[in-house]
Amino acid sequence: MAKIDRRRFLAGGAAASLAGAVVGFPAIARGQGRRVVVIGGGSGGATAARYLRLVDPSIEVVLIEASPVYHTCYMSNEVIGGVRRLDAIRFDYDNISALGVSVVQDAVTALDAAAKTVRTRGGQTIAFERCIVAPGIDFKWERVPGMSPALAERIPHAWKAGPQTALLRRQLAAMPDGGRVILVPPTNPFRCPPGPYERASQIARYLKKAKPRSKVIILDPKDKFSKQKLFEQAWTRLYGYGTDKALIEWVPAAKGGKVERVDARAMTVEADVERLKGDVINLIPPQKAGRIAIEAGLAKGDWCPVNKQTFESLVHPGIHVIGDACNAAKMPKSGYAANSQAKVAAYAVAAMLNGNPPPTPSYVNTCYSIAGDNYAFSVAAVYRYNSANNMIEKVKGSGGLTPLEASSRQLVLEMLYAHSWYNNITRDIFG
Ligand code: FAD
Repeated sequence: MAKIDRRRFLAGGAAASLAGAVVGFPAIARGQGRRVVVIGGGSGGATAARYLRLVDPSIEVVLIEASPVYHTCYMSNEVIGGVRRLDAIRFDYDNISALGVSVVQDAVTALDAAAKTVRTRGGQTIAFERCIVAPGIDFKWERVPGMSPALAERIPHAWKAGPQTALLRRQLAAMPDGGRVILVPPTNPFRCPPGPYERASQIARYLKKAKPRSKVIILDPKDKFSKQKLFEQAWTRLYGYGTDKALIEWVPAAKGGKVERVDARAMTVEADVERLKGDVINLIPPQKAGRIAIEAGLAKGDWCPVNKQTFESLVHPGIHVIGDACNAAKMPKSGYAANSQAKVAAYAVAAMLNGNPPPTPSYVNTCYSIAGDNYAFSVAAVYRYNSANNMIEKVKGSGGLTPLEASSRQLVLEMLYAHSWYNNITRDIFG
């Protein structure tokens, strides 16, 4: 019988995945070297896996992802608003497999930083020389009395895209005209700072067309939010914000917006000033690093501290944490930021495995918000690493915010750029 070496085995695995099969991964003895395990195949992890292969094809890359498909959160607000279908934000891992990455569909249940192994729910143990951890976020349910993961089937967060996105969309479609939507954003810091306000806009856009007697009330635990002036200007122009007929009302913490308790059976939320009943409640709980990162001891508090030049953990050497789960201040928690950090980490890991110093990185982020039909705006920045304080700092004069004086033509162009950005970044992440 012909002897199959590991590289040919992995190539076979990739082919099997291409054919649609679920790829298993054999339990592998330690000490093989030059194997990188990536945990989580979202914006950060999928990019890291691809780029590691592109930077140095001699490195074995194993990407372990719990779900067979990934739904992007970006553009999921358009799904909720009824302008995009759920399957238009869904991606699989075939192109990543085709690049020679071993894609393992399984959940990592334990990461042993000292032994340099991961264990999966399916019972596999996989050794690595370096590991990139990109599990995204988890929710701090205990911070919202009355809520639980199970109750998210009635009061969706839709802050991880997929079934939750579809559920919120269905609830809005079933709501009667004249209904009330209550949207509860999380406390800082959280995934996608402008996201809740883009969502309110997309819901209002839908209500204006389909249920004009209805309203979105944002009960906010904060007194200000990302791109606030641009959002409020858009809401005034598009949704009667500030008038009796407003489709959106924003209640900041200072005016009693902070929600203290939820009653999922009665569909009520108790805010500082009053108890409100919603026909639809979209509550987005406060957040922390994805569970595996916390259980592996990579977090200090809610997020994982890293050396921001390499994204190597400041707790466990040899483990890198990227994306929402890490503390990458001053970058926001965004898909584009996760994608940018993944490339920095991939180059650093490749350099370190080859005995070279990691390069000096730069990073980029742009975040578009679509507030209505043909109406979008953005914030963009280029960042540089400051080794003196381990900070990612904005390059002066780079990027910027859409001006309040932007013409309607510019706002239309921003929307076209937003859709174009989406097509490009998902290609960059998933191949
Ligand atoms: P994720 O993309 O969430 O990926 C984590 C992956 O890890 C998941 O696939 C998960 O299944 C997997 N995983 C977790 N634990 C395990 C485990 N133990 N074993 C195996 N797999 C595991 N960003 C932008 O840049 N632009 C936008 O316009 C934008 N819009 C947004 C709109 C909304 C409504 C929301 C909610 C977010 C938006 N974001 C946007 C933010 C963006 O989605 C996130 O910041 C980004 O996805 C973070 O990437 P990540 O890789 O850290 O986590």
